[in-house]
Amino acid sequence: MTCRHEPCAFSLSSPVHSRRSVIAALASAAIFAAGPAVAAGEASADDTRFMRLALDEAKKGDLPFGALIVRDGEILARGHNLGRTNGDPTAHGEIVAIRRCLADHGSAALTGSTLYTSGEPCAMCMGAIIWCHVGRLVFAASVEQLATRLHQIMISSAEIAARESFSPIAITGGVLADEAMQLFANISIK
Ligand SMILES: [Zn+2]
Repeated sequence: MTCRHEPCAFSLSSPVHSRRSVIAALASAAIFAAGPAVAAGEASADDTRFMRLALDEAKKGDLPFGALIVRDGEILARGHNLGRTNGDPTAHGEIVAIRRCLADHGSAALTGSTLYTSGEPCAMCMGAIIWCHVGRLVFAASVEQLATRLHQIMISSAEIAARESFSPIAITGGVLADEAMQLFANISIK
């Protein structure tokens, strides 16, 4: 079987490639994959308003990350990082918001919704966002920016989105990024 990812030049069935080498190759292929456009210039006044609310949510978090899920101008759910509070390393702001949205509105409400988050989603959160068929992602600080303050999985949301074809998502990055990074002024976990 030939790997279907174009930048990946070798055969997956070759016995000389260990599983680890295949994963490494796929990861490096993703870096070169063309993802959805990410541009702060696409942000509307509503985007700025909702992002400011996501930043307010972030201020309540164990770490300063907050998220908001919006549909047709209505806020469906909010979430902030509860990793330490819940003793749950997966309790990122986006996951908390998604779980609250599911509990209050059901999964259909997430389809085509917009998720605002103070920090670009990690690989776990971006996977959840895609599986929930969120239609648009708006983030403030990028993974690259966040990595200057704390550990990050170094893959962008656009790179992850480029690896799937079942749930189209528009991505706008950099909205109020400076304000989001100011929340980390006294935080450095490296
Ligand atoms: Zn996350």
